[in-house]
Amino acid sequence: MNLQALIKKIESVDSYAGEFLKKFEIKTKDGKFLFIAPNSDYREWLETLLEGFLEEDLRNIIEIREKEDNEEKRIEIHGFLNPRYTFDNFIVGEGNRFAYEIVREALENLGYLYNPIFIYGSVGTGKTHLLQAIGNEAKRRGYRVIYSSANDFAEEMVEYLKHGKINEFRNKYKSVDLLLLDDVQFLSGKERTQIEFFNIFNALYLLEKQIILASDRHPQKLTDVSDRLVSRFEGGILVEIELDTNTKLKIIREKLKQYNIKTSSELINFLLQNTKNVREIEGKIKLIKLRGFEKLPERKEKNKLEKILEFVANYYALKPEELLSDKRTRRVNEAKQIGMYLCRKVCSASLIEIARVFRKKDHTTVIHAIRKVEERKKKDRKFRHLVGFLEKQAVEKI
Ligand code: ADP
Ligand code: MG
Repeated sequence: MNLQALIKKIESVDSYAGEFLKKFEIKTKDGKFLFIAPNSDYREWLETLLEGFLEEDLRNIIEIREKEDNEEKRIEIHGFLNPRYTFDNFIVGEGNRFAYEIVREALENLGYLYNPIFIYGSVGTGKTHLLQAIGNEAKRRGYRVIYSSANDFAEEMVEYLKHGKINEFRNKYKSVDLLLLDDVQFLSGKERTQIEFFNIFNALYLLEKQIILASDRHPQKLTDVSDRLVSRFEGGILVEIELDTNTKLKIIREKLKQYNIKTSSELINFLLQNTKNVREIEGKIKLIKLRGFEKLPERKEKNKLEKILEFVANYYALKPEELLSDKRTRRVNEAKQIGMYLCRKVCSASLIEIARVFRKKDHTTVIHAIRKVEERKKKDRKFRHLVGFLEKQAVEKI
């Protein structure tokens, strides 16, 4: 691909790209492109496009950097504690409260209360944020802290080994008060690294030094990690972190406030529907900040709940608007109720989201509708078949 074609591609997802890209220095080498951004805003803009909006394979040919004199301002997260991550700016909801509280308590009782702490949950749920937050605060209080990802830990070990200094490596890690090991799943298959880490772990544990681990999965689900390490991981406290819809909603609201973006139920709904984790929420919000909500590409695409509404309306030979109206004929009522029921069943949408799509003031109507369908399903065999049929169709079509 040549540069012109590439720029065209980028412009096709963001109509502002032409203007923005003029601010970049672009270098081409061996079919790859280096985009040098004038500052972090532009870097983040392009990164967000690349991660969320452009085709997968472009990621292999595009590299994004920030101008040299800007680079020092930016602190790489790997191997460092980034002061950006604090307890204060961690938004707490149902799904992450336990993890948040355990880590906060650990800070006040470093090494004594829970050891180790093993936090697990899918990508972008705030694991690194929590590890970094306790690391920053512990360091501020004078503790010796190391934060490392399992990958960096492995690479560092190899370097020390190459220079015949493995003892220095061990001593470095054994002399901390708080060891934070992120992305533990990457220990998978790295036997030597696991042996070194096992020994460091034991030494720290005996000295009652705090160990906190984060992983994208439960210890039992780690692959190619020795049993003895897994049993160490399970020997303290296991904490799952997840993003339930309410927490997501809270995070979306607060982040929009932080970025000074005017909220609307449409915008919030869009973010709820189109993001899987906090990283994506932040990415989309940054993009909205740069070019406004109206210009977002996905907005044109109907979200799933709207598609269900259309699908049900279609089945009952009604217009989608009729399902949003106050009309109360039997047919309209039934279609509305089944529509809400399917949104819940097929998309696991929250009651609030469903209420929004069906233009209901609050979610009690939604609860009522779903209950109605469920009750009738129990009594009415024909109705049960109909709902089952629609559900299957919806799963396939939507
Ligand atoms: P993980 O390590 O679980 O993949 P991160 O900690 O890297 O996720 O989180 C991704 C992004 O989302 C980071 O920028 C982080 O600051 C932000 N984030 C995650 N959870 C929260 C939260 N509860 N409150 C505020 N920001 C959050
Ligand atoms: Mg992480």
